[in-house]
Amino acid sequence: MLTQSHGVYDMPGKQIIAVFGATGAQGGGLVRAIAADPNGPFEARALTRNPGSDKAKALAAAGITVVAADADKPETLAPALAGAHGAFCVTNFWEHLSAEREGAQASAMARATKAAGVQHVIWSTLEDTRLAIPLADTRLPTLQGQYKCPHFDAKGQVDHVFATEAAPTTYMLAAFYWDNFIHFGMGPRAGENGAYTLALPLGGAKLPGIAAGDIGGCAYGIFRAGASTIGQRIGIAGESLSGADMAAKMGQALGKTVHFLDVPFDTYRGLGFPGAEDLGNMFQYQAIMGEEFQRHRDAKRARELFPALQDFSGWLAANARSMPLG
Ligand code: NAP
Repeated sequence: MLTQSHGVYDMPGKQIIAVFGATGAQGGGLVRAIAADPNGPFEARALTRNPGSDKAKALAAAGITVVAADADKPETLAPALAGAHGAFCVTNFWEHLSAEREGAQASAMARATKAAGVQHVIWSTLEDTRLAIPLADTRLPTLQGQYKCPHFDAKGQVDHVFATEAAPTTYMLAAFYWDNFIHFGMGPRAGENGAYTLALPLGGAKLPGIAAGDIGGCAYGIFRAGASTIGQRIGIAGESLSGADMAAKMGQALGKTVHFLDVPFDTYRGLGFPGAEDLGNMFQYQAIMGEEFQRHRDAKRARELFPALQDFSGWLAANARSMPLG
């Protein structure tokens, strides 16, 4: 039975987790994980700018409470978070490519969680790369005047806002989505003699990766673990693999030959698509940090939080055929 409180409908006896990005990859996975555990302690409240969108309507049709909230309009956040036990906060840099706007959105979310009396926040952050590679370091070109890797730095630089102005927070760091091989144009390309090439700028480093849909499962595990995780930085991955290993596993899954090409960072930065320089710097940062970066994306910890976590072969078994082979 549903009861009305704070202007939205809640299930009695359940603690509400307000989920930003519920119509997207990270938040959507969390909503699904909560719904998949009907005897668990939580109920998802899906937050979206547009409750009339097809994705929001699909959530509502599945019985999820959908509430309007726009992180660009801080005044919309108080009613969306009212009465919530937890809040999952994620921002989408790639919609606008502005580090300033992403920082403002995240800061508004952070402050709203405290004002609403939320007990536990997960902030989906990434490293501020400038802590290891200061602006004066010429290995990575400086972008947007004050960043090395805007979509990382913008998130990392608001960690302190969550630490000081938000409700008690756990910091979750996601790995590279393997789904980028489907949706982000990063999949294998056709070459000569029927073979394919996976081309990424890895600088010889392993790439920690994860099935995007599993990130929400890990977030669910963090909410289940509760207060013990507050203040922790929990990096998650399904597996860390070299470029050659990813290509070989893709080849096995596709029944084709897939070679790996380690693209020079400067070449990748020069590809010209929106965000190419940012991503080129991201990959070079990962290569410079090496094992330390991989240690901060821990598959063992992630699997403890979410036992159904997929490795790359598992992800490929379900998704290899969806990769557009250009
Ligand atoms: P996504 O699938 O692209 O969906 C974006 C979500 O953000 C949507 O649910 C959208 O909701 C919501 N949103 C956007 N602007 C909003 C606003 N102003 N107020 C409230 N909600 C808003 O996103 P995602 O992949 O889950 O997360 C994106 C983030 O993941 C990026 O910042 C990226 O840097 C990070 N990330 C990506 C990777 C990768 O490999 N791709 C790896 C690690 C981290 P509505 O449209 O319904 O309002």
